[in-house]
Parts: sequence; structure tokens; C-alpha cells
Amino acid sequence: MRTVVIDPGHGGKDPGAIGVNKTYEKDVALSVALKFGNMLKEKHPNIEVVYTRFTDVFIGLAERAKKANSISADVFVSIHANAAVNKKAAGAEVWVLGLHKSAAALEIAKKENSSILMEDDHGSKYQDFDPKDPDAYIGLAMRQNAYLDQSLNFANSVQSSFVHDAKRFDRGVKQAGFMVLYRTTMPAILIELGFLSNAQEEKYLSSAIGQDELAKSIYIGFKKYKDQIDGVNHSISEKEEQKEQVKEIVHEEKTEVKVVPENKEQVVFKVQISASSVSIPTIAANFKGLNDVEQHQLNGIYKYTVGNFFTFEEAKSRQKDVRNIGFDSAFIVAYYNGEKITVQEGVRRTKENSQ
Ligand SMILES: [Zn+2]
Repeated sequence: MRTVVIDPGHGGKDPGAIGVNKTYEKDVALSVALKFGNMLKEKHPNIEVVYTRFTDVFIGLAERAKKANSISADVFVSIHANAAVNKKAAGAEVWVLGLHKSAAALEIAKKENSSILMEDDHGSKYQDFDPKDPDAYIGLAMRQNAYLDQSLNFANSVQSSFVHDAKRFDRGVKQAGFMVLYRTTMPAILIELGFLSNAQEEKYLSSAIGQDELAKSIYIGFKKYKDQIDGVNHSISEKEEQKEQVKEIVHEEKTEVKVVPENKEQVVFKVQISASSVSIPTIAANFKGLNDVEQHQLNGIYKYTVGNFFTFEEAKSRQKDVRNIGFDSAFIVAYYNGEKITVQEGVRRTKENSQ
């Protein structure tokens, strides 16, 4: 874990949500972001902390993600506060990219994405994505990046700390099509600290004590996630493969394989192109024309792979092909006797077999 990007929502001409007593979301977000960043810098001098903004300025959503992508950040934390028509709504929630499971979830993504409309040239910047059109969100959720597992893991860690350390009402970890998360190419979460539309919570969110507690909770959640990531030795140099192996060890996952090779004592490499919290039919039209997509399900997450290769090199070549058609974060996974193993282990076993 080397670089953390902290993204305080809104800013400048975009105040975000406005509280019953006129607290601006942009101010709460910036204040908590800076407090979290300071804690990070103090406790981990080796981690580079980068803010998408640290003053009251307007920045587009695409630009925020681009900044994180351009420095290959290890994690992206977007900080926001909520508002609802129901003045009693309260509590913290953490979001990751995905298809919304309720109308309320869709509404939050629509509200946060509407900042786009304040950007110059938003039509061309976002390929005419209309933040108010529900249909646009299906497409957004279909192209999942490969970091869903890690994002969920991170989100759960932060949410748990909001509940246990800051004693916030638990609204859970949720998914929806947030443009700023969609555009990032690393594990990414979006935090809704609480409701400015709730007078009591607005008071907490605008207080120094409240902001300190929330920032500390984000830090504790981050630290737990970081320890999991760092607690693993990497020996395969490529970043995606490292991340995949970390993920495997963290989850100790054993994924069921649908296509079992004839020779069961054989390592099979596949290329994972996508992951989703909802099942996506494996037809070519859903995967840029690929017609050999397999679905694997584990812990409520659907993973999509292509290819069954007996050598790492063949898988590598396929990985290159699918990256070229737009699955930018495709990475290689390995199976042995139908069970998922690390790529490193797969390569080792392949070498043994050929000797
Ligand atoms: Zn917001």
C-alpha cells in the first residue's frame, strides 16, 4: 500500500447536499477528508496521501478518477454526506460500484452523479451519459472492474468501524452506479457519512468531535484493510496478479469450476475479465462479443472468465487480447483439480509436470 487518493465530494459552485441548518456537504466532506488524510500521514509516513481537492474548488467526476488512475493509486476513497426527504433518515453507509438493488439506491447515485451536469462539455466527456436516466445505470453496472472483491472488503471494513467505533446507525454496504467509482481503476469506495437532512445528525456532521470520530473510523477501517493487503508476500511482479493473490488468501476462496479439463491432474489458467454482484447472462453481446465466457459464483459475487489454458504463456496472450478490446483490468487466475489456486502455485505445478 503506497498511494491513497482521498476524494472530498463536490466543491466550489457545487455545494452537494444542504442541511436543514444550511451545512454544506462539500464542507463536511473536505473537513473529514483532511482529518483522515492527516491521520494517515502521521501514522504511515511512507504512504503518499493525494487529495483530489484540498480547497473549496469545483472538480469534475472524471477528473477526480483520472487523477487517481494517473498515479496508479492503490485505493480511492470518496467522501460525501447524504440528504433525504425523510427528515428522520440517519446513519452511515459505504458504497461500491455495481447495479443498484433498490430505487432508493439508484436515487443516491443519481443525486451524486448530477454534479456532471455542472461540468463544461459533460456530453462529450461522459459519452452523453444522462445522470437522470435510470436506463443509463444498467450499462454503468455491466462493465464492472476487476476490483469488486477488494472494494467490498474495504467497504465492509470501514462500515464496521463506523458502527462499532463512531457508533453510527448501520445502513450497510451497498452498490450503485457512481460515475466517480466507475472511472477509477483500483479498489474504490464512496462513503456517505450521514444525513444533513436530519437536524441531529447535521449537528454531529458539522461538529469537530463528529468529524474527528468519522475520520478516525475511516482510518481504522482503512488500517484493517491495509493490514490484510500487506500481510501477504508477493513474488509475482505484475500488479494485477499480486492483487489477485492477496484476494485469494484474504478470502481463502475455493471457486467451483464449471468446465473441468479431461485430465484432472492438470493446472488450468483462465483470464478473469469482470465481476458483478448481479448475475450477467454469458452471451457474447454482454461481453464485447466474447463467446467463451464462463461464470463462477462465490459469496454472492459473480466472476467472469474466458479461456482454459494449460500454460501461463497462453493465458498471458489471451489476457493481452481481452485487454485490447476494453477489459483493461483483466487478470489471470489458476485452477488445479477444479479448485482455485494462486497463479504462482499454478506456474510452479506446470513446471513440475513438464519435467
Ligand atoms: Zn455527495
